[in-house]
Amino acid sequence: MSDAGHGTDAPVRVRVAPSPTGDPHVGTAYQALVNLAFARSRGGVFVLRIEDTDRARSSRKSEEAILDALHWLGLDWDEGPYRQSERLDLYRSEVDRLLAASSAYRCFCTRERLDEMRRENRAEQRFPGYDRRCRSLPVAESERRAAAGEPHTIRLAMPTEDECVMQDLLRGEIRREWELIDDQVILKADGYPTYHLACTVDDHEMGITHVIRGEEWINSLPKHLRLYEALGWEPPTFCHLPLLRNNDANRSKLSKRRNPTSITWFRDAGFLPEALLNFLGLMVSSRSEGEEKFGFEELAGGFRFEDISLGGPVFDLDKLRWLNARYLREDYDADGLAALVRDWSMEQERLSAIAALAQPRLETLGDWGRLTNFLFVDAPDVEREKLAVKGLEESQVAEALQFMLWTLEREQEFTADIIQGHFRRLSEALGMSLRNLTRPFYVAMSGETASLPLFQSMEILGPDLVRARIRRAIEALGGISGKRMKKLQKRFEELA
Ligand code: GLU
Repeated sequence: MSDAGHGTDAPVRVRVAPSPTGDPHVGTAYQALVNLAFARSRGGVFVLRIEDTDRARSSRKSEEAILDALHWLGLDWDEGPYRQSERLDLYRSEVDRLLAASSAYRCFCTRERLDEMRRENRAEQRFPGYDRRCRSLPVAESERRAAAGEPHTIRLAMPTEDECVMQDLLRGEIRREWELIDDQVILKADGYPTYHLACTVDDHEMGITHVIRGEEWINSLPKHLRLYEALGWEPPTFCHLPLLRNNDANRSKLSKRRNPTSITWFRDAGFLPEALLNFLGLMVSSRSEGEEKFGFEELAGGFRFEDISLGGPVFDLDKLRWLNARYLREDYDADGLAALVRDWSMEQERLSAIAALAQPRLETLGDWGRLTNFLFVDAPDVEREKLAVKGLEESQVAEALQFMLWTLEREQEFTADIIQGHFRRLSEALGMSLRNLTRPFYVAMSGETASLPLFQSMEILGPDLVRARIRRAIEALGGISGKRMKKLQKRFEELA
């Protein structure tokens, strides 16, 4: 595979390369969609690569959720998933080549020294990167220390003069002074590569012809180009897609505080995959009024990079709802719609779990709707007054909600028992009774101060809907300012 040519006639090979470090993000779907549409328009191959080299943050659970989400959207890959954690030898051998050519060097600086250096850089307003102290170590000394087992990382030796000239498909030529680019760590002390090395080696090894990815990686491009050069490889074509933006005044980068970003949320809240896909397609292919509804085939058929506008595409949830409504109305008859509803919310196992909760509280079957209604909606209406807890300020209630939100964002096992454990611990940490603490959560989940048992209900709703409902409740209480949020985060880390 490593011989695959990268000339213009080479068959197109593209990839999407998510890191399995959290919920499956709509940004991943957006990039996958563009890559797949381009591949299909050129008879090419679409590769899925899992970039799991961050050992602390990567998880199999997250990987599975990403694969499920891409399948759900019909963004199926032709090759993969490849996993970087299974390819460590490959990266190591390329590092050895770089070391032998002095294109990379061992860095023995300790964390303390690096922290101190950073502080000094800041105080003296110097270049914020590594000061390259270990770059001048004599090779013999470096080898001796490594052989003696002294912990070290490997850094890429960047050029220090002239400019890096880059080409981006959407932006044309971009120039950066080499001097301003850090000697990036490419191999960590634990033997794992960093993103920059693994991504470059894999893109080459996998014969990727076009790297189409998020704009946030433009600043890394000089490092990647340097790696291609040092390893003697021809770089692929690069295309950095504009980031999705919140629909707010300053068009900030899409964030889960302002928007649902997890693909699973869209599924659980009752959106159709074809509508979400169509909506993401609108981000890269602007259409005039009346032409907004189109399927993947149409997008791929007419795909052109020229149609991608560099102004950040705005993620407008109302527009998505409008589009979703059109699919529901135009693409399904009543039977089809009934089947959709059943598959979405009345799946047998889920219904049984709900029945078990409702049973002790039913007098007639006629009570069912009132009791369980909140489990069948995307979000209940929440009144601010109902969120009140006696003896607490509203801001304190919002903070308790936020603490639980952070806790649940880190939780991979979303069962009633585990959730209950979190509530117990948080109530102790905050010195609040469990009863008081759970109260606003009943309201956040169901809109009512009393409803079906909380922890089981949360398990049935699942992590995405639960977290979205907590966020809504926080907003209903007036939200938490950015400044306050920073303080809270600190306190939360101390409590955790
Ligand atoms: N793992 C990187 C990410 O999560 C991939 C970036 C790239 O496509 O090169 O965004």
